[in-house]
Amino acid sequence: MQKESNSNHMTELEKIEEQIKICQKCVLFEKRTHAVPGSGNPNADLMFVGEGPGKNEDEQGLPFVGQAGKFLEEMLNTIGMKREDVFITNVVKCRPPENRDPLPEEVQTCSGTYLYAQIKIIKPKLIITLGRHAMEFFIPGRYISEIHGQPKRLINEKTGEKQTYLPLYHPAAALYNGGLRETLIKDFKKIPKILEKIDTL
Ligand code: URA
Repeated sequence: MQKESNSNHMTELEKIEEQIKICQKCVLFEKRTHAVPGSGNPNADLMFVGEGPGKNEDEQGLPFVGQAGKFLEEMLNTIGMKREDVFITNVVKCRPPENRDPLPEEVQTCSGTYLYAQIKIIKPKLIITLGRHAMEFFIPGRYISEIHGQPKRLINEKTGEKQTYLPLYHPAAALYNGGLRETLIKDFKKIPKILEKIDTL
């Protein structure tokens, strides 16, 4: 079934974007050049959620614009999609200094507020987590090595709504590890079938 397009989506999303740009809820605001709210299609069926902005993203205010982003775009092309077709964001919207891992409380504060708000507006059919930090936020206590590439339909404790997730390895990790790269490419190719069958999962 075609998703209804809602012209108010953009303005609601923009309101959240404005809040993110002036957010001071955690220490990550102190060193940011730009917050990175996310970008893409406000009516997307697919939402990609990464870890957090790196140097390039912090400079440009856009998600996945470095090497990992290029690889993500290449993989999207293999399934006939462009980055404009999907929505891309992160579990923290400001760059952790020296690219350290985001702290659990930073993820909870940021995603508990802004990511949930974005999901509520966009209503993606499938949320694709990239790497273990994004996976841990939605599917806590699991190992990515055990559940990558397997769709999970779960009730979100906070929203009470059912949502399907697909945990994938992070494209940056896969860039430097041939084995992971092959696995990620293989998992990625499952996306169209999962979307096709999503209502029966
Ligand atoms: N890695 C991420 O997790 N997110 C980005 O936006 C860029 C690189």
